[in-house]
Amino acid sequence: MDWQLLDRDREIWERELASFVPPRVFDSHLHLYELSHFNGPAPGLCAKGPSSVGWAEFQKRIAEIMPDREVTGLAFGFPTPTVDFKVANDFLAREAKHPGALGQMLIHPAMDPEFIRETVQRDGFVGLKPYHVFATEKPTFDAHIPSFLPEEQVRVAHELGLSITLHIVRSSALADPSNQEVLRRYATKYPNARMILAHAARGFNPHHTVLGIESLRGLNNVWFDSSAVTDSGAYEAIIRVMGHRQLMYGSDFPVSHIRGRCVGLGDNFLWLTPDNTKLDAAYANVQFTLVGIESLRTLKIAALGCGLSDEQVEDVFIGNGAKLFGLH
Ligand SMILES: [Zn+2]
Repeated sequence: MDWQLLDRDREIWERELASFVPPRVFDSHLHLYELSHFNGPAPGLCAKGPSSVGWAEFQKRIAEIMPDREVTGLAFGFPTPTVDFKVANDFLAREAKHPGALGQMLIHPAMDPEFIRETVQRDGFVGLKPYHVFATEKPTFDAHIPSFLPEEQVRVAHELGLSITLHIVRSSALADPSNQEVLRRYATKYPNARMILAHAARGFNPHHTVLGIESLRGLNNVWFDSSAVTDSGAYEAIIRVMGHRQLMYGSDFPVSHIRGRCVGLGDNFLWLTPDNTKLDAAYANVQFTLVGIESLRTLKIAALGCGLSDEQVEDVFIGNGAKLFGLH
């Protein structure tokens, strides 16, 4: 059911989203990869899809979720413990040469900052993509930011004016005092580094972003991508406290093509999918749609709730990313 667009998905697009999503879109969070980039078995979601997902394949697939849109975007490899960094980054560098495509370099906390500097300059990357699975602290979902994004790497981002797409972890994400302290310190000390907090600061449980967002108030080099979030509270908190200019649409492709929805539950969150849910026990004809469609609907709810104008919605979909990366 993943990677498949059904009639009922198209109906939701036509009914709710075709009039909401502007004609031009900057997708600030998308993954490009080939299955051969992983040592050993590829991640389950990737294994179910095409073996080579470059810019052209992405264009074909994102058009399933957002038909007839002109989509540019910020791409990076698919970070798993088994990824071959060199092969994945070389592939990204080639794919990011397509018009409208920008690339971020997948980085490991043990990488020499000077190696990162040279690679970025040689290959034309605009930013960095760290990820918690490479953290020195275990379990990595409880890692503090410096154990997967050391300060010396942020310094290089500052010196070169790079973006950093950062997926914070720990159980309460932005509500975690140590995450707040590190984000504020990095952003203040390295003003030319452009931090993009993935998944609305990992606001899969909106309460975490709601509780923590005040800690970032006033920082103008911190952005948020909307990717794969399907509860509107985190978007609304960001718009209210940081302003809509710091929120950018992101698909998290290929996560966009999972059939399911992520919901806040208690003090955590849960990815509901057909595999872990008994829909036949439900009281009505309950059917999943794709995460990418759910996330667009959620963004629409937040835009309505915050009273965003059409121009402001356009900022979230393209203006903010275009400004951040100097695109026209
Ligand atoms: Zn992602």
